[in-house]
Amino acid sequence: MSTKTPVSKPDEVDLDRFVPPDEARSIVLANAQPLSIERIPLTEAGWRVLAEDVLATEDHPPFAASTMDGYAVMAEDSSPWREVIGKQTAGFVLDLEVTPGTAVQIMTGAPVPPGANAVVRVENTQLSEDHVIIDQYHVSVGENIRPIGFDLKKGDPALPAGTVLGPAEIGILAGMGVTPVSVRRRPRVSILSTGDELVEPGDPIGPGQIRDSNRFSLITALKAVGAEVVWSGKGPDQRDKLEKLMRERIAGSDMVITSGGVSMGDLDLIKPILGDLATVHFRRIFLKPGKPLNFAMFGDSLIFGLPGNPAAALVAVKLFIEPAIAVMSGRDPGHIDGVPVTLLNDTSPTDRIEFQRAVVSVDANGKLVARTTGNQASSRLASFLGANAFLIIPPRSDEYRTGEQVRAILFGAPRAD
Ligand code: AMP
Ligand code: MG
Repeated sequence: MSTKTPVSKPDEVDLDRFVPPDEARSIVLANAQPLSIERIPLTEAGWRVLAEDVLATEDHPPFAASTMDGYAVMAEDSSPWREVIGKQTAGFVLDLEVTPGTAVQIMTGAPVPPGANAVVRVENTQLSEDHVIIDQYHVSVGENIRPIGFDLKKGDPALPAGTVLGPAEIGILAGMGVTPVSVRRRPRVSILSTGDELVEPGDPIGPGQIRDSNRFSLITALKAVGAEVVWSGKGPDQRDKLEKLMRERIAGSDMVITSGGVSMGDLDLIKPILGDLATVHFRRIFLKPGKPLNFAMFGDSLIFGLPGNPAAALVAVKLFIEPAIAVMSGRDPGHIDGVPVTLLNDTSPTDRIEFQRAVVSVDANGKLVARTTGNQASSRLASFLGANAFLIIPPRSDEYRTGEQVRAILFGAPRAD
């Protein structure tokens, strides 16, 4: 990554501006670029993002197939009974032709023999020695036959670039024999927790210490959206050590995420380090929780300096980091306009746009309703428990009242209770 060089820095005055969340998000997305394309075997492509449109390479199914167990017949044939001239199972082709007065016993998925244009299901027939009697009043042409190319015709668009390869998508590629598959490289992310107070979750805790929780929350959040966490660790509130760690991590990462050290205290060192090391795009957001979010670039690497408070860090992940990962992975980052929901509780606005954690449900009338998850302090990680949405609560002088409409950004399916 020797190509990485810091570019000129935006005006210092500008950096103290409170950037609205949607503008901050646009700045982040403008700096995130889709990563390179790699070709990998289909067996490894689950949950990766398709880098190129895939067109059907062949008709699917490649032959007219029976969708039932039964008898392949000529629909127009009115013979009361037919001679059974063979048994066609799946996986090969019999050298047989159905003619008036004859039928071929056929299994689901087997090729329909020449001459036949319908399959009568076995439930509507009676077999007597080598003859079959059709108990069905009318047989339609094409009945119980899946024609060539029914699912996909050769050249049809099968999957567009940007598709996440889940079970159905992988099945479609497998069905068409597409391997290797062109996907975007996964973003390589490093995660650094900062703070002298932090101890490892498994270690004893001393006076004034807390356990590092952010690192583990962040690793989990980033893995869930397809990033590759190439490194994670914690650093002390010492400028030289943090700066060294930052330099090392930037060199091997598409994204570096730090937590802590971006407030106004003497030991809030990430802010000055980023100022010296990289091109800072913003460091204050008109957002609660998460006001002191720092975003900087070094070459093509994105650097997020998250606040240490755990709920604030996770709000920033959802609003800014997950969309950046989406763009880098070749996916659509979505939007943060939200959908209208009706409040089930009163809530007080603050001096910034607040993203309150909430549970959104569908009520008996099919309307979306929302209840906030209790105390919304930026330290209270429990405010995320059970939450499937952020309520967007802009500042205003009076309280938001039960029954009022606000907008919500859903990050999980609405509950049905
Ligand atoms: P800071 O942003 O460094 O001023 O930290 C703000 C608050 O978040 C402080 O109460 C820290 O103790 C807490 N905090 C910082 N880093 C972490 C972390 N990795 N895990 C849990 N809490 C943290
Ligand atoms: Mg700190």
